Amino acid sequence: MIGEKLKLGEILVKEKFLTEEDLEHLLLKQNELPEKPPLGELAIAEGFITRQELKNILKMYKKQMRMGELLTSSKIISEKQLEEALAKQKELGKKLGEVLIELGYITEDELMLALSQQFDIPRMKPDSNVIDFDLVRLFNRKFLEANAFIPVFSDKESTTIIMANPFDEKTISGIQARIKNKLVIGIASKNEILSAINLVYENYHLKKLDGQKGKTYNAYGRLVIGNVDLGKGDDKTVSIVNYIILNAFKEGASDIHIEPQLNRLRVRYRIDGVLFHKTDLPISMALSIASRIKAVCGLDIAEKRRHQDGKITASIMGKEVDLRVSTYASTFGETVVIRILARHTSLIDLENLGFSPLNLFRYRTILDYPSGVILVTGPTGSGKSTTLYASLAYLNNKNLSIITVEDPVEYMIDGVVQGKLDPKLGMTYMDFIKSMMRQDPDVLMVGEIRDNEGAEATIQAALTGHKVLTSFHTDDTTGALLRLLDMGIDTFLVSSTVVSVVSQRLVRTICPNCKVEDKAISKGLLRSFKISPQEARNFKFYKGEGCEKCNNTGYKGRSAIHELLLVNDAIRDAILKKKTSTEIRNIARHEADLLSIREDGVYKALCGLTTLEEINRVVFHAEVDQYIPRKLHEIFEVSKRQYEDIDENKSIYEIDDESDVIEVSADEVKKEELPARDESIDEKENIEKISPENMLYSFDRESRNGIEVFRIRLNCRQIEDEIDAMKDIYMYYVYYRKYYNFREDDIDLSLFIEAVIFYAIKLRVNHSVDFAEAVIRNNGKELFIYLESVTEAQDNGNGKDNSSNLVYEIVDFDFFKNLLIRPTPLQAAARA
Ligand SMILES: [Zn+2]
Repeated sequence: MIGEKLKLGEILVKEKFLTEEDLEHLLLKQNELPEKPPLGELAIAEGFITRQELKNILKMYKKQMRMGELLTSSKIISEKQLEEALAKQKELGKKLGEVLIELGYITEDELMLALSQQFDIPRMKPDSNVIDFDLVRLFNRKFLEANAFIPVFSDKESTTIIMANPFDEKTISGIQARIKNKLVIGIASKNEILSAINLVYENYHLKKLDGQKGKTYNAYGRLVIGNVDLGKGDDKTVSIVNYIILNAFKEGASDIHIEPQLNRLRVRYRIDGVLFHKTDLPISMALSIASRIKAVCGLDIAEKRRHQDGKITASIMGKEVDLRVSTYASTFGETVVIRILARHTSLIDLENLGFSPLNLFRYRTILDYPSGVILVTGPTGSGKSTTLYASLAYLNNKNLSIITVEDPVEYMIDGVVQGKLDPKLGMTYMDFIKSMMRQDPDVLMVGEIRDNEGAEATIQAALTGHKVLTSFHTDDTTGALLRLLDMGIDTFLVSSTVVSVVSQRLVRTICPNCKVEDKAISKGLLRSFKISPQEARNFKFYKGEGCEKCNNTGYKGRSAIHELLLVNDAIRDAILKKKTSTEIRNIARHEADLLSIREDGVYKALCGLTTLEEINRVVFHAEVDQYIPRKLHEIFEVSKRQYEDIDENKSIYEIDDESDVIEVSADEVKKEELPARDESIDEKENIEKISPENMLYSFDRESRNGIEVFRIRLNCRQIEDEIDAMKDIYMYYVYYRKYYNFREDDIDLSLFIEAVIFYAIKLRVNHSVDFAEAVIRNNGKELFIYLESVTEAQDNGNGKDNSSNLVYEIVDFDFFKNLLIRPTPLQAAARA
């Protein structure tokens, strides 16, 4: 019935634009997409309905969507939050949007985008860099501020005005009285408009002081594309194009999308892998902006119907970048996409690739193997080449002869012979590999395996005793093995040459500036990871609340998540027996402790690096892992391990019931009664009370070298007063040696205390610290006592450096005992 209150989805089903299944599909998709587009937009994008049809339908159902409905259907707020806001709105008599902002449920930016969609008005951000001051001067400043609007630019056809209230007819007619052009109205918040007015006046006065004519354009950096310095343009199009590119660079965008739509030119940036709406521009500018970009990037301006691609070097604010420009003829005009490729000057260390401790340990071990194939897999843009380059940099320090063939060469590495694949010369990867082998290399890096021949040549190289690093385009690690078999490589060759497969994706990391604990993770989200709410209660998850440093996204920067498959005997057997991918995965999980890429993601969420939503965004659930999900504590423990002799230490992570895992800090444990040293060690009860399982889930402390089992603070200035604390350390030290079955030490309490005092004084003397923390760590082979402290970094004369340095001493009893036999000046100092 028309006029009935229906949700848009229901209306579209009722009007037969969608089937129930279509609707379900769209809702699922909406949920998966980070920007949570409104259902109507999604239906248009998926081709179920045209915009005109949607408009007609909405008209027929008597309304544009209500603000509240728009926000709930876009998943920006929940139904419950809407109800609360509506109640408050009645009480206060304010606008719904304002109430929602006050409640902190939406940001001003989200409200503006929603209003722009609700009323189909372009969302424009008034940036002082592109505002034409001559237009602004047509109006009295007070009049602009009182009515919250600002004229921004003008061309032959129209003049663009940004208003906080685009329905303010009185103001619009006031504007029209002075500007005879056709008006194009965009929407922005009152705050945005007022601060833009403020800024343009400030700029104007500053320039006047400089003795210049009141110029409008305040380009805040130099932009040189090819040989053309673009910083000087006065023309409106020029300055807007400059602004779009400079600002993208400043915000760390990798791509700029300029897309003509029915009534606006939409500008979006891709930042950390996700597209963000930047601003809308008048559609009338589409042609001149596209032409300008094509002109400076060396494309054919006259050609508007054919897709074009171009690449050009540019200098943005003094930094060298490559711009890759591509145009695409769409219904409403030419879509332009500019990719900004920063030139890499320094290589990334293995340590900074985002590997978990276990995977880093394993990956280093594999790199140290003398031969074999290491495959890095993942989709385009998953950071494969960064991993390969970091691996080469690691090997490059080891006096090895390294030779590569790449397409293209992205980093230059000193001391490595790098070749560039040029298909135009008719050379294939295989031709290259053959010539590379004649160069007597230890390590070969082959950019990518693309065909059977390349795969064969790679395997051949490994068979002749070389180490080969290469990348491959598959989804997961076991899939890569099977793909090699599918390419016709013999099972025997695959099983005897491939030593490891790494699969990876990039995830956005939580903005450190606004990171908080996420106490309200939805059950559905947990369920998608097979985590029970009871289990989750024992762990902390984090999120970014959104701040100015992360454009209110809550994320800043990216890191990788990995799945690292070690090809051991069990897996070699499975390959030889031509097992299925599922079977190999199961064997890998049980026999080689394979953590799936999602589990590695969970580990990183537990460490506060990223969120579960983000993991879901980049990697879908692997069917086979459903049958054997790991518990959170197991994921955490296995990931943190930095050694392989797991059998001896199984007790560290083998816990079969989640209910006994509680989060306890070391200090709290200390308050508990410690079991008497010898008698109680076998009593299960007492062991459980302070067993490391009970202590490890305080994530605030990152273990650097092994698992941290105990920590206590010492005053190094009055170390002799800390005898009680040292007794505690001693008891825990002795206890854990037994617990982990380490060899018995012949250290008595007084020797122990003397040694700790010695190292504490050493730390104080060398680093002038007042306090230190004594930490007991288990690295799987030994139990160590670290004395750690933090010092302020030295001022290097180039201004202040607020960073701090971790300094530490490892308490070495053997060394200390030798000191006692042969006294040294240091020892004397220690005792004094
Ligand atoms: Zn932030």
